[in-house]
Amino acid sequence: MTIEEITVIGGGTMGNGIAHVCAQRGKEVCLTDVSQEVLDQAVLTIGKNLDRQVKKEVITAADRDDTLGRIRTTTSLEEACDGVQLVVEAVPERAELKYDLFGRLDNLTAPETLMASNTSSISITAIAAQTERADRVIGMHFMNPVPVMKLIEIIRGLATSDETTAAVVALSTELGKTPVEVNDFPGFVSNRILGPMINEAVFALMEGVADVEAIDQVMKLGMNHPMGPLALADLIGLDTCLSIMEVLHRELGDDRYRPCPLLRKYVAAGWLGRKSGRGFYEHDA
Ligand code: NAD
Repeated sequence: MTIEEITVIGGGTMGNGIAHVCAQRGKEVCLTDVSQEVLDQAVLTIGKNLDRQVKKEVITAADRDDTLGRIRTTTSLEEACDGVQLVVEAVPERAELKYDLFGRLDNLTAPETLMASNTSSISITAIAAQTERADRVIGMHFMNPVPVMKLIEIIRGLATSDETTAAVVALSTELGKTPVEVNDFPGFVSNRILGPMINEAVFALMEGVADVEAIDQVMKLGMNHPMGPLALADLIGLDTCLSIMEVLHRELGDDRYRPCPLLRKYVAAGWLGRKSGRGFYEHDA
């Protein structure tokens, strides 16, 4: 099965990147969000990112126009589900929101439609259980920023079929990415390791071990990380980082995964990182 028609649900940080990459590789993309403003902003962001690729001579101006021409937007989930082969969900990292959405998608899409979640940590098995087609539900965990990062972590739920996995692995390769298959377990591989590292950096900040810049410098220069953990947290979104730690803490039942109180405080203040203009650093909103 080759996948040509893709609906991306959620046009925020990840959704617009996923739509960008799919359309650039020739797929027909419908991007949907509850907010028209987000959709307008998403198309602007994709346009700007494509312009940058044109400037670097990675693509031509005609490629940019063709890519944008393959993306349509709608705030209607019903319309977005019509005739689509794959939906990729990228709404906020809240289990109840995803459960509700997958239950609705099960009714709105054709029975053969595949359903992927871009969740960072929520159980694919639990998401799939909200539908009557758990064999067709899978995790497709893109990395941020999507147009740049090579990895897609492919997460098989307990009931995900070999056919679904093969179709999504083939699509990931077509998108120019490297799919890596993992099993469903809290945080999968990526955030089982990355989440606690970021959380520990916030503990180091809270305990006064060093300031923001020093913590990031140590990890960049000493561990050869391309960016420090606190800058990375700002890129990911502190609300997403907190949600990941809550999942790890609750589902692994071990206090070593407890979210740092300072992370909670920043999220409570609305300091979510780049997307809100302020996190551990200040950003242009
Ligand atoms: P975000 O907050 O930037 O965007 C989420 C979007 O979903 C918003 O635009 C919101 O309006 C929209 N939305 C909310 N409810 C909706 C609904 N019912 N229907 C349609 N749209 C709805 O979040 P994000 O950072 O893009 O994260 C999305 C998902 O991707 C999360 O599960 C997150 O864990 C995961 N993820 C994030 C990153 C990252 O670095 N930010 C990396 C990998 C995976």
